[in-house]
Amino acid sequence: MKTTIVDSPASLEHRLPDGHPEHAGRYTAVREALEAVPVSDWLTAQQAPVEALARFHTVQHVDRVLSACAEAGEDDWVALDADTLVRGPSARAALSAVGGALMAVDGAVEDGEGAYFVLARPPGHHAEPDQAMGFCLFNQVAIAARHALDVHGLASVAIVDIDVHHGNGTQCLAERDERVHFISLHQAPLYPGTGSAGETGLNGNVVNIPLPEGTGSEAWRMAFEAEVIPALRRAQPALVLVSAGFDAHADDPLAGFRLTDEDYAWAAQQLAGIAREFAFSRLVSVLEGGYDCPALARSACAFVQALAEA
Ligand SMILES: [Zn+2]
Repeated sequence: MKTTIVDSPASLEHRLPDGHPEHAGRYTAVREALEAVPVSDWLTAQQAPVEALARFHTVQHVDRVLSACAEAGEDDWVALDADTLVRGPSARAALSAVGGALMAVDGAVEDGEGAYFVLARPPGHHAEPDQAMGFCLFNQVAIAARHALDVHGLASVAIVDIDVHHGNGTQCLAERDERVHFISLHQAPLYPGTGSAGETGLNGNVVNIPLPEGTGSEAWRMAFEAEVIPALRRAQPALVLVSAGFDAHADDPLAGFRLTDEDYAWAAQQLAGIAREFAFSRLVSVLEGGYDCPALARSACAFVQALAEA
């Protein structure tokens, strides 16, 4: 598959206090590792316009985050929740992460095909329309979905969330917009506590697959084949978006799944197959979590390499 990386170097500007798991070294580790993967192109993310954010977030939320950044200045932090903090330059990082996701959607839709991997932080899938939480300021994948629907006029999109945590923010979008199909595999119980199988959205456009601590490759792949693939076939999306978190890896310190690097290559192959079958080979993946840097870098490489070879 023609595969493009959208790189957001502004990710480095979102610096957090020492010891915070969502640190800038995550970006650097993935960036360096991806240089060895033969892809078609590298693009550099531009900052998203505020109007694009308002397709998912409230204007008050956007104002609150950007005002907190301005208030923090260059050398101090303002906390938006217990573990979600910003400095002044965090605004550039967050807006560029969204801009990268929009650029990827534009590329996939305008070229008519192609896999895109958006290398950016902070992550986004916990950010709700009116709330920053769980390290997330703006919800890149939800904003990108609305951009594909409202700007490009696609009839429907699917968002597959393979991060080990439930994408509560993204689910909020599907609960308000039937054109969005949200499918999440995640550990339960675990932060943020949402994502039970009984949460089914509007006419079944939300599919949650909670799995217990200790879930390994075999059980995860079985659940993917039994539930994610059929849900995608039912959705028949015109674009597949992926919340590509790599914290379900066995080495990750924040959760208890037991996936390997190879599982991410396998998932990429499955997703590329669905994108080819239903979505004109349009597949946009956005980096979410992953907190053991070596495992994160290897897993992201395995994922992108498998897309390029698909
Ligand atoms: Zn996560």
